[in-house]
Amino acid sequence: MHQLTLAEIARGLADKKFSSEELTRALLARINQLDPQINSFISVTEDLAISQARAADARRAAGESGALLGAPIGHKDLFCTQDIRTSCGSKMLDNFKAPYDATVVSKLADAGAVTLGKTNMDEFAMGSANESSYYGAVKNPWNLEHVPGGSSGGSAAAVAARLLPAATATDTGGSIRQPAALTSLTGLKPTYGRVSRWGMIAYASSLDQAGPLARTAEDCALLLQGMAGFDAKDSTSIDEPVPDYSASLNASLQGLRIGLPKEYFGAGLDPRIADLVQASVKELEKLGAVIKEISLPNMQHAIPAYYVIAPAEASSNLSRFDGVRFGYRCESPVDLTDLYKRSRGEGFGPEVQRRIMVGAYALSAGYYDAYYLQAQKIRRLIKNDFMAAFNDVDVILGPTTPNLAWKIGAKNNDPVAEYLEDVYTITANLAGLPGLSMPAGFVDGLPVGVQLLAPYFHEGRLLNVAHRYQQVTDWHTRAPNGF
Ligand code: GLN
Repeated sequence: MHQLTLAEIARGLADKKFSSEELTRALLARINQLDPQINSFISVTEDLAISQARAADARRAAGESGALLGAPIGHKDLFCTQDIRTSCGSKMLDNFKAPYDATVVSKLADAGAVTLGKTNMDEFAMGSANESSYYGAVKNPWNLEHVPGGSSGGSAAAVAARLLPAATATDTGGSIRQPAALTSLTGLKPTYGRVSRWGMIAYASSLDQAGPLARTAEDCALLLQGMAGFDAKDSTSIDEPVPDYSASLNASLQGLRIGLPKEYFGAGLDPRIADLVQASVKELEKLGAVIKEISLPNMQHAIPAYYVIAPAEASSNLSRFDGVRFGYRCESPVDLTDLYKRSRGEGFGPEVQRRIMVGAYALSAGYYDAYYLQAQKIRRLIKNDFMAAFNDVDVILGPTTPNLAWKIGAKNNDPVAEYLEDVYTITANLAGLPGLSMPAGFVDGLPVGVQLLAPYFHEGRLLNVAHRYQQVTDWHTRAPNGF
């Protein structure tokens, strides 16, 4: 049963081949048995899962239907879940039980999805390897010595290891697409504003966006359908109708214009990944797509701009964790300053502290113009590059990551080396555009992803291209050994 996709689960439940409770119990048993190898869960919510599964079975018995009714999923542990620990991968929030559900969580629960647990993640979603979690590193099911990518590494590893058919995740600079690529999954970062951020613990508010991680584009369509939509509680949520993502999955790719940015294929890209990207282009050409070379001239400035803007916003967002109102408080503070200093010093890990310091520095008087303002200008140039490119093409294609999943620990002494792994993903966050990563092959047994980007609100087009590609390839159906 654990091999079933969300779409297959929906059919099995509708045909009464199994109940949601049977499926949920089977997956919970698998989590208990196999998760110790990969550490993909921070909390397993067994009681909640069983009660939600029974409720979904009762709704179906009463005549209700729906693709997510009774579907088991997991939530990245930065979505607030009422009365359940929401740790954000940090000691700071180890004891935090959210008083309410995030909009994404409540929308999916209303659709009948069953929450099996909260997945591991880089602390406060800062990272590309899932090594910075207070709860320990997550391991890549394709090779347990390698990272699964981050920051949504727990969601990715759990889905890749067939512990869950799908999970929610968030992407500030690549945290859905990059782990999708490194674990052979399909992951979609929606347009900024498409999915409510209410109840998501904020990292960098102008970049954060929630989306689905699953094995197929078809499943991402189902999960996104349950997540997307206007939310008056999020002031950056956009009031645009949500299309039927499943309805456009099979649309023809005849004449689809795919742009390949020449900047994507230079030094720094593993040539074996470049070859697999070119092979995916050939498949899409066979399906009728037309290839054009394009240019994104400001791409080289994206990492420096992102690593000013994201820490700046983080330093502001994380100032609320002060030992007074939320989370961890140090033992016996001597005065208020000591309380702040030690609570934050003991509660946050080293990467989070580094980001807070960089961000506070970039925002400080005298440096604001030199760093933060410059970064915002670059952000606009990057957006303009995309707008110009999308005059000529319908989607942009390239690698999701420049390298394969690296060995756990290999980049621990060099944070910038890890930042460079985001080179292909962060531009979409800076511009607010939707992006998808899909499995496109393996090198030395490690997965490779291809990234597709589209204009604002064209998530349906990304899912369509990925679905058609998945009809003629089988990378997405392969499971890691032992799982
Ligand atoms: N790796 C990037 C960072 O550390 C992106 C993380 C994310 O998307 N949450 O900021």
